[in-house]
Amino acid sequence: METRCTFCQIVQGEKPAQILYQDENVIIFKDIHPHAPIHLLIVPKNHIRSLNDLTEQDQNIVCEMILRAREMAVKQGISKSGYKLLFNVERGGGQVIFHLHLHLLGGW
Ligand code: 5GP
Ligand code: ZN
Repeated sequence: METRCTFCQIVQGEKPAQILYQDENVIIFKDIHPHAPIHLLIVPKNHIRSLNDLTEQDQNIVCEMILRAREMAVKQGISKSGYKLLFNVERGGGQVIFHLHLHLLGGW
């Protein structure tokens, strides 16, 4: 079932992850295979398959994800040095986990 995806399992506490932040809507944890010294995933708690599946009603969650990413960059001390925020969209865009997530990469 799609709602039992890897990130839903992390959200539900059924799969371990190095969680750095969570609130009602968003969870942030370390990427298991980091591509940068700091590589975090900002994930909505509700299952949304991909950026392509966003609706007008999802505007708030996308905004929250970006704001929480920015705050996390400050907390991780990479705000001034700089960082990347990345959405991989669908297979051709490199998406392998089909639960919306925003990559935060930095610390070089
Ligand atoms: P995508 O390529 O779909 O944009 O990114 C998925 C990311 O999730 C990858 O960077 C991958 O390393 C990470 N990932 C996949 N499975 C797990 C997992 O079980 N735990 C954590 N923490 N990260 C994962
Ligand atoms: Zn999911």
